[in-house]
Amino acid sequence: MTILRVDPEELVTCVACGLCLPHCPTYRVTGDESASPRGRIAAMRAVQSGDADLRGEFTRYMDECVQCRACEVACPSSVPFGHLMEGTRATLAAETSYVSWWQRLAYRTLGHHRVLLGLSRGLALAQRAHLVPTRVSLPKLPLHARPLRSTGDDAWLFTGCVMDAWQRDVHAAVIRVLGAAGVGVALPDSRRAGCCGALHVHAGLHDDAAALARRVLDAFPGDAPILVDSAGCGAALQDYGRLLGTDEAAAFAHRVHDVHEWLAERLDDLPAPPHRPDPDAPVAVHDPCHLRNVQRTHGAVRTVLERYVELRELDDEGLCCGAGGAYAALHPTLANQIRQRKLDAITRTGAATVASANPGCTLHLAAAGVDVRHPLEIVDAALHPHASHPA
Ligand code: SF4
Ligand code: SF4
Repeated sequence: MTILRVDPEELVTCVACGLCLPHCPTYRVTGDESASPRGRIAAMRAVQSGDADLRGEFTRYMDECVQCRACEVACPSSVPFGHLMEGTRATLAAETSYVSWWQRLAYRTLGHHRVLLGLSRGLALAQRAHLVPTRVSLPKLPLHARPLRSTGDDAWLFTGCVMDAWQRDVHAAVIRVLGAAGVGVALPDSRRAGCCGALHVHAGLHDDAAALARRVLDAFPGDAPILVDSAGCGAALQDYGRLLGTDEAAAFAHRVHDVHEWLAERLDDLPAPPHRPDPDAPVAVHDPCHLRNVQRTHGAVRTVLERYVELRELDDEGLCCGAGGAYAALHPTLANQIRQRKLDAITRTGAATVASANPGCTLHLAAAGVDVRHPLEIVDAALHPHASHPA
């Protein structure tokens, strides 16, 4: 009999009311109870009680969860679904071949930043030589990533792995916006702070995530705040206290802030926009799940953005876009079905540009042809309309 690595008391909190079902993206596109939070929790209980096996269908039910955690927000019984799913996946990763060797290799690469940069450049070259199949839905990757420069020591900026390799221009824009607010930004050693471990936690690779977390802790000495411009990384860094179980990790986690939340509390420091927001160029706001459902700070994006651009809200109640870390690569059919609902909601806003503060969502939506910008790229463009790259 398998004992899942979950807290049994958390597992019994679900009362099977079903109120979470309409908020679950996999249930919405499949209509299957087994693809719903309630069905997944029932399956976990069946394994825990010895009535079902860990392998086969159970693995599929768990693997097809996007880990968006919208069910947590909807649940009146406060079922901590994220904990349950992370513990279940840790069990699967430890006791089955759920995470393949090539996936483990890919996850390991994320922790070696120079290797990742080299591979990214190779991929960018392959794209230009038309050697990457079009079914691999990737936007055009940068051939050259301009180095970032520290501008002071008021706050750290977490730069991460894929975001630094593929979207370093976003970090540059964030540094410029923070500079405009009078904030000097320190940058960590990317060899130590190269990956937060969020994707490893999602995959159930707890030990690998903990090893990365310990390296990240060492890369941010002092007590300056640590600002994060990626929703998924921010949520992972804020959970280091639970991941590592130490006072040091808990203290570190308290220093971590989503950059929008931090700026929203200092709005007066941000320069006024040179022009009033243009009602003919609205921007639709997409909430990354790890900002909306985990950090629950998505309102701050609007607080910062609305001074500079006309905003449009999506009418899909914040349903996940299907990106889910590595989910879009591992489950392309389901991810694309989920994304189609988001694309329809974007179309209904009439906005030509979408703001999203998470690299996974950005890549997934951009692969469908959407013009997606990071919220602070939009602020940067409003503040520095004629600048190319002043950082
Ligand atoms: S997870 Fe919460 S909302 Fe969903 S069925 Fe269980 S108790 Fe109800
Ligand atoms: S985390 Fe998201 S995909 Fe998974 S069960 Fe909850 S709502 Fe559904």
